[in-house]
This record gives sequence, C-alpha cells and structure tokens, in this order.
Amino acid sequence: MDNYNIALIPGDGIGPEVVDEGVKVLQAIEKLDSSLSFSFTEFPWGCEYYLEHGKMMDEDGIDRLKEFDAIYLGAVGYPGVPDHISLWDLLLRIRKEFKQYVNLRPITLLNESLTPLKDKTKEDIDFLVIRENSEGEYAGAGDWLFKGKPEEVVLQTGVFSRKGTERIIRYAYEEARKQKKTLTSISKGNALNYSMVFWDEVFEEVGKEYPDVETYSYLVDAASLYFVSNPERFEIVVTSNLFGDILTDIGAAITGGMGLATGANVNPEKEFPSMFEPVHGSAPDISGKGIANPLASIWSVSQMMDFFGQEKWGAVILDTIKEMLNETEHLTPDLGGKASTSELGNRFVELLTENAKKLG
Ligand code: ATP
Ligand code: MG
Repeated sequence: MDNYNIALIPGDGIGPEVVDEGVKVLQAIEKLDSSLSFSFTEFPWGCEYYLEHGKMMDEDGIDRLKEFDAIYLGAVGYPGVPDHISLWDLLLRIRKEFKQYVNLRPITLLNESLTPLKDKTKEDIDFLVIRENSEGEYAGAGDWLFKGKPEEVVLQTGVFSRKGTERIIRYAYEEARKQKKTLTSISKGNALNYSMVFWDEVFEEVGKEYPDVETYSYLVDAASLYFVSNPERFEIVVTSNLFGDILTDIGAAITGGMGLATGANVNPEKEFPSMFEPVHGSAPDISGKGIANPLASIWSVSQMMDFFGQEKWGAVILDTIKEMLNETEHLTPDLGGKASTSELGNRFVELLTENAKKLG
C-alpha cells in the first residue's frame, strides 16, 4: 500500500475553495484504489496569517514541510498585503528552499470550444512549457540607489548560473528525448547580451549530447506571436523564469483561461517535496462567492499523481476533466455554466468514479 503525506496550503481568496475540491478528488481516488492512501496536514499560512502574526508562514515552516511527499497549494496574495511580500515570503521561498527548479505547465486545449483562436484544433494546441523556476530574472538580485533623489537608479539583475541553466535545459532535453518530441528554447539573445547569450550557448552545448532531439530556438517576442498564430509549432518548450511566467499566461488564454491553467513545481531529484498548484492567483474579485473554477486545481492533482508514479490516475483525472468540459450545465460561470465550485467538484467525483469503474 502506498501512502502519500500531503501538506495542504489553501492560502488566500479562492485558494481554499479550489483546494477543497482537489482534496475531494484525492479522497475519491483513495476509496476507489485500495492500494493507495493519502494523509493530509493543513497549514493556515497566507495573508490572513500575515495580518495576524506579521509573517506569511512560521519560521520553522520549511523544516515542517520537508517531511511531506508533496505540497498542494491554493493561492497566496490578497489586497492589504503587498504582493512582493506574499509572493517572496511563501511561494518563492518554498520553490527556492526545496529546489523546485522545474515548473511544468501544460498548454493543452482540452475542448475545442475553449480557444479564442479560429481554426485551431486540439492537435494544434498541445505542448508543455518547462519554465526555469529558481533563478533568472526572479532571483531577487538588485539594488535601489539614491531613493527619491534625482539620480535615483534601480537595478534588477537576472541571475543565470552555469548549474541552474544547465540543469533546466538538460531536464528539457531528457523530457524531449523520452517523449520523442521537438524541443524549443525561448530566449532573447539579441537584446539581453549577457544572460540570454549565455542561455543560448548552454542550450547548444547541452544539445550536443542529444543529437536525436530536434531543436528550435526563438526570440521571446516572436514566440509570443507564434503562441497565438502557430501554436502547433511547439511540443516541448524550455524558457527562463520571467519569460515562462508571461508565456504561460498567453498559453492559458488560448486554452480556456485561468480557471484551467495548472503548474507543477518540481524537485526532480525528489530530495525535497514538490508543489502542485493552479497558475491563477487568489482572485479577490470572485472569492467568497462560490463560483471559482476548481478544474485548474484538480488538474494539478493529476500532475501530482503523475509525479508519484501513479500515471493511471493522472490520466483518469485528465480524461474526466475533458469529459466535464462537455457538460456546460455542470461548469462554473467562467466556462459558461451556472454551477458552483462544489457542485462542479461533486459532479467531477461522480464522473471520475464511473470512469475508474469502467477501467476496472
Ligand atoms: P496573481 O497576482 O496571484 O497572479 P492575479 O491578480 O494575476 O493574481 P488571478 O487571480 O491569477 O489574478 O486571476 C485573474 C482573474 O481571472 C481573476 O480576477 C478572476 O476574475 C479570474 N480567475 C482566476 N482564477 C479563476 C478561477 N479559478 N475561476 C474563475 N475565474 C478565475
Ligand atoms: Mg497573475
């Protein structure tokens, strides 16, 4: 029997609303599969915690999280707490401390009605963005000089270490080789004359070890255009932290919006827990109304199952999401339905149960 210990950080806004539905899905799987069980430990960290305790998470938080097999996160950030505090003191801290240097963001069109792009099919929009998740433009390096003076200068430095750049690029090549897919590197060597020239060099160097992998290299501006005009060009994409952040929001826009975009923060060596979360934030505009779409959060449970090596369940969850998307009456308003978050979750569990029984 495989037991997985999962740390829950529901966080702020719609975070707890969508995490509840993901937990329902995990509990349903546990009932359907006698070889699997999950234990949950919830941590109350987030902006409310900050307002009360002056910190986003406890000092020993990282130590306590270390013991878990995975972290399942909702969202952090809320009006009243500056974004850079909520982001840096919790999300980025966990990503960094646990060396979750790979961010896996599938850009997959699950239902043709969801894309605003004319004439694009499910076959056209089906790729994986592998985003560098530990350094680059989000390394937090910089300076703020002569604050408030006429000579004020602000520096924000991108940090690209040999180790950090090689390991993400190597991970992407391995994935491309395993999946027999093309690999596209997205950078900006013409304007960022240190970091991206280096990135391009490493991409080429590491590529020498993977002669079987077909590669492409695009500038980020051109790639932004292709995401919309020719998404069929992409199979596996590797890119820096900032570019990956921005590009995957475009990816979300062409596949059904923020309510469907998922991301896994992975420590491939499994030295520390990996973290699974929807890409969206706490969405204060809709929080408390019970209308948040939990499908992104449920999709991240599918990624968690894949990560645990329970690919069968990863696939059943994804197939059930596809099936749900045909049932508009059971979807939340962002997808044209009238269902509440928990109604969607309940219907999801019904369908998942049917699908699992069909598979036996
Ligand atoms: P962050 O700064 O944390 O990325 P954000 O301000 O970019 O957050 P998000 O919360 O990511 O905002 O989402 C932007 C908007 O998309 C929300 O205000 C909300 O209207 C919509 N949205 C996001 N997630 C969902 C969801 N799960 N279901 C329905 N609508 C959503
Ligand atoms: Mg955002």
